[in-house]
Amino acid sequence: MHDVIVIGAGLSGVAAARALVAAGLDVVVLEARDRVGGRTLDHPIGDGAVVELGGQWIGPTQTRMAALADELEIATFETHGTGAHLFEARGQLRRYRGTIPRTPNPLAVLDVGIAMARLNRLAEQIDVDAPWRSPRARLHDTQTVATWLRRNVATRDGRALLKLVVEGVWAADPADVSFLHLLTYIASAGSLELLTDTAGGAQERRFVGGSQQVAVRLADRLGDRVRLDEPVRRIDRADDEVTVTTDRGTHRARRVVVAIPPTLAGRLVYAPALPGDRDGLTQRYAQGSVVKCMAVYPEPFWRDDGLSGQATSIDGPVKVVFDNSPPDGRPGVLLGFLEGRQARVHGRRSPAERRAVVTAALTRLFGPRAADPIDYVDKAWAEEEFTRGCYAGYLPPGGWTDHGHALRRPIGPIHWAGTETATVWNGYMEGAVRAGERAAAEIIGTLPSP
Ligand code: FAD
Repeated sequence: MHDVIVIGAGLSGVAAARALVAAGLDVVVLEARDRVGGRTLDHPIGDGAVVELGGQWIGPTQTRMAALADELEIATFETHGTGAHLFEARGQLRRYRGTIPRTPNPLAVLDVGIAMARLNRLAEQIDVDAPWRSPRARLHDTQTVATWLRRNVATRDGRALLKLVVEGVWAADPADVSFLHLLTYIASAGSLELLTDTAGGAQERRFVGGSQQVAVRLADRLGDRVRLDEPVRRIDRADDEVTVTTDRGTHRARRVVVAIPPTLAGRLVYAPALPGDRDGLTQRYAQGSVVKCMAVYPEPFWRDDGLSGQATSIDGPVKVVFDNSPPDGRPGVLLGFLEGRQARVHGRRSPAERRAVVTAALTRLFGPRAADPIDYVDKAWAEEEFTRGCYAGYLPPGGWTDHGHALRRPIGPIHWAGTETATVWNGYMEGAVRAGERAAAEIIGTLPSP
């Protein structure tokens, strides 16, 4: 019998396992896929260069990820942002610098600035440990983000820009997401600017050689404690013991850490069955929708035109674009996101159809040289059996106030990890690591060391 079974070898699972092993416990990590890293995935594009099909950026306040990268000797580099950004609205293309695009209606920029300040002020009142106990929690949790935008943002362009922000950060439509969830997420990051900004924000830096290396190197240190190709299907629990059944057999331990997204945790069989409030939570915790698309060119030609490679488009379907070239700029890579409804619509299409849609959008933005990439790669995360949507999960109205208390509460020997359970940088790689370490600390506190 093991001390602890960890389900899932994403960042959260391997971070939990590392902390448990450091405390002298006997740990096994059961991973469904034939690889570790979960929602981080490096993809080679030739000549030693990689692009990341999952999580990639790290920001200045994401200190646990930065410390791990340092320890594992994975260098970081600045996201390319030199030059003018592009903004497309109703067929018109404009250049801008800074965070908020210049729209034809200057009132819209004012509108967005005021709304962002209000969102930050409201987020400051959120208790990230228990959002349901925050002032006016019920009021915030009985409206969607779309409702709030309609009531609080006067101009059409202002609403369109903020819709773009919501799609970009949450990979969901404003109509899907509880306003309390939005505020909780902002609070867990620190501010809306920390979420949206490149320099000084969550998109500031990238990992040389790819972000998946963090999980891969942590898993290497765990050695044969990590078992690949072992999807967990069932957890039987007694007071001080669990039996975990996978496609390959059973494992017994004194505790289990479930380090997978809530919606996937809800698909496991539990015996005895979980309490209704916990099941209600996993019924509601939807995954966002994103297809991350990359077009590869011999060089980053847009830089010669004075462009940063960053673009936002109200017209879509690709609404957010970044220069995602490797550190030396060879080859040139444009990264375009299909998010929210666009991901649901285009995620159903073939990669070849998506390539045509994405390169047409990039051509509108960056001109005819964008029309014919030498390579194209994308990942529709909803199609992944062991992820089912990205970047992370979100709650609709009522989720936090009625079911939020069940998110981290252990149930007998079962503990919960994964980025969705994080109170700091929820939804991010940073949140995944912190959540894994928090779940490990819960167990280390209750389990006598050998
Ligand atoms: P996961 O990575 O989902 O790990 C869960 C693991 O459990 C997986 O390995 C899975 O295979 C396994 N599993 C699932 N079901 C079972 C089962 N039944 N049995 C056994 N194993 C199972 N974050 C950032 O910080 N910066 C970014 O720039 C960023 N961009 C993103 C872009 C995209 C396109 C995506 C997809 C995500 C992005 N994120 C980003 C989010 C970030 O990648 C995630 O928050 C983080 O990787 C989640 O880690 P996790 O360990 O909580 O979950």
